[in-house]
Amino acid sequence: MVSALLAASLVFSPADASLACTTAVQLVERHTPRDSGTTRSMLAANFLLDAASAAGADVRRDMFVAKTPKGERRFTNLVATFKVSPGAPWVVLVSHYDTKPGVDCPGANDGASTSGLLVALAGILRSQRSLRDNVMLIWTDGEECMTAYMEDDGLWGSRHAAKALKESGANVKAVICVDMLGDRDLHISIPRNSSPALSKIALLAAKRAGIAGKVSRLDLLVKDDHVPFIDEGFKSIDLIDFEYGSAPGLNDYWHTAKDTPDKISEDSLLIAGKLVVEMLNILL
Ligand SMILES: [Zn+2]
Repeated sequence: MVSALLAASLVFSPADASLACTTAVQLVERHTPRDSGTTRSMLAANFLLDAASAAGADVRRDMFVAKTPKGERRFTNLVATFKVSPGAPWVVLVSHYDTKPGVDCPGANDGASTSGLLVALAGILRSQRSLRDNVMLIWTDGEECMTAYMEDDGLWGSRHAAKALKESGANVKAVICVDMLGDRDLHISIPRNSSPALSKIALLAAKRAGIAGKVSRLDLLVKDDHVPFIDEGFKSIDLIDFEYGSAPGLNDYWHTAKDTPDKISEDSLLIAGKLVVEMLNILL
């Protein structure tokens, strides 16, 4: 309890939400589509690397080649680390930035919104001098599948990152994946295939952040970037709003040309940022 009192709390402000939203909108306007292995995807990675560096993160490219249903493709994850000590445990935050191949989808909410959120979080972590654990931010490439999620399709970036973390022997205490959290009409869900301990922490964090009404469990298995981390034995959670459409129950903005910047908002990214930061306050 003493150490918890000593650690300063992280705060996610409206200015942070504004940076998250602006970054997301610029990513969409400048680099759409961003499907893996294309020149545009590499330019998108460059843009995010610049934005996160400007926010104060030390970012590196983690490039790799993987087999896909359409042949070999080159992927680029971006990794930023905030290290307090080599032996300290890690908390890892993940967002994909690629867009769905083969469909006309700008991915303002699906990919860009949470990539902007991670850039804003980099700014907060940079200015925080009293972290007790290490934090890693990963912008993943190739979350979207080309045909259907299976062993050689989709989740490439997260599978690569999860394997690398496992092989490094790092002590990872939590992996928090965020996806589709810029939705103007935001309700954050925790799919059933998230680690129970982290689901509890997310609900507690929502309460502490005063946004309990915006976060709930979802009795659904979701295939997202958290799955490879769970498969490698890490505790991992997915925070996602998987209802993204023009009316309740509809998902007609998802993976369509309607996933445009006007469908996301600073207010929603403020809620998402508050939730993630409050989880960090509990975990770190
Ligand atoms: Zn998607």
